[in-house]
Amino acid sequence: MSKRQHDNDEDLGEEERQNSPSAGLWCTLPPCSEEPLHFNSQSAFELHYQTFHTNRCEECQANLPNEHLLNLHITETHDPIFDLQKGKGREFLDRAQKLKDAKSDAQKEIEQYKAKKDAELKKFEDEFVGSNQKLEEEADNQVKDELSKIKKTAEAKKSAVIKLLIDAVVAPKPELHINAK
Ligand SMILES: [Zn+2]
Ligand SMILES: [Zn+2]
Repeated sequence: MSKRQHDNDEDLGEEERQNSPSAGLWCTLPPCSEEPLHFNSQSAFELHYQTFHTNRCEECQANLPNEHLLNLHITETHDPIFDLQKGKGREFLDRAQKLKDAKSDAQKEIEQYKAKKDAELKKFEDEFVGSNQKLEEEADNQVKDELSKIKKTAEAKKSAVIKLLIDAVVAPKPELHINAK
């Protein structure tokens, strides 16, 4: 089929194209027109059409992923005016680069912020764990204090008892002295 046919198909709305009798089973659009492709279903053809013909450059038959890129391709490759605009193009690329730099700066800032927050969290955790340890140590020390007080009291009582015993044994009380009898 001719280039004209292709143009006509492009001009048809989505619905009309689906209902067009030539669309269903054979792809006769360039470059398929060299050897028309057969499709078993409308959906298979639609998929083929979307993939191979929706954004095809009619100048060089290149197929582009989307309309924007197709337009860019046509402008860059086939538009002689574009050469005159290359200065502008460079300006655009410079601006794009600046945007890219700004984006990576922002990314760096985000990473720095994240690192700062991570450090703060770690510090908080360290302090929290540290203060927990301190509390445990204090509790331990308190128990130790209590124990040593009890021990001291016990020792004091013990020595008092021992003293009593010793006093009882060695006190120079005549009536209790063995030699006195
Ligand atoms: Zn095709
Ligand atoms: Zn092209």
